[in-house]
Amino acid sequence: MIVLGLTGGIGSGKSTVARQFGALGVHWVDADDVAREVVEPGTPALAAIAEHFGQEILTSEGALDRARLRQIVFEQPEQRAWLESLLHPIIREELIRQLHPADYTLPYVLLVSPLLLETDQHKLTERVLVVDVPEEVQIERTMARDTNSREQVERIIAAQLPRDHRTAKANAVIDNNQPAEKVAAEVRALHERFMVDFG
Ligand code: ADP
Repeated sequence: MIVLGLTGGIGSGKSTVARQFGALGVHWVDADDVAREVVEPGTPALAAIAEHFGQEILTSEGALDRARLRQIVFEQPEQRAWLESLLHPIIREELIRQLHPADYTLPYVLLVSPLLLETDQHKLTERVLVVDVPEEVQIERTMARDTNSREQVERIIAAQLPRDHRTAKANAVIDNNQPAEKVAAEVRALHERFMVDFG
């Protein structure tokens, strides 16, 4: 079974492309979703975080207060290191578990992650598929989707891999600067190819 990493900058269209593969029956796992799931109320990771930082790290509903946690790890690098050493192995294990569903018969699955190439997540993948759009399209689509300002989006883009570095690491690239039907046709063609190559 091949784990194909699907990455691209913010607003490049990863989720859109992942859904199109999903419509063809391809199983996909979103790394951001998994990172949130492992600290949901009732998880061992959230209990460890509350024990370490105190109950003030929880909202009145008992969920993780992400803004507060972000503030702490921003100000205290040693706390960031503590948090990462707690969460990295837990996230990794959960990713591996979700990437291998029972009774799955296709030869490949997708790991969707904005920071696939920036972190060691790419080590969980055998191939990399990049969703690519020009930076200006990325900015416009993200601003239309979220309530972020242009400056916020530009800051996020600056913290991610530059476009040409990302595509240079790709085994395949999807051009998402075209109408959705064209992109869907590219996805179908790639799927046919992957079914043969990975089958
Ligand atoms: P990502 O998951 O990479 O952050 P999304 O899949 O959420 O990106 O896409 C960002 C925004 O752009 C969404 O609002 C999505 O509907 C829109 N979008 C994605 N692909 C296209 C396309 N080919 N044409 C127009 N809009 C698109």
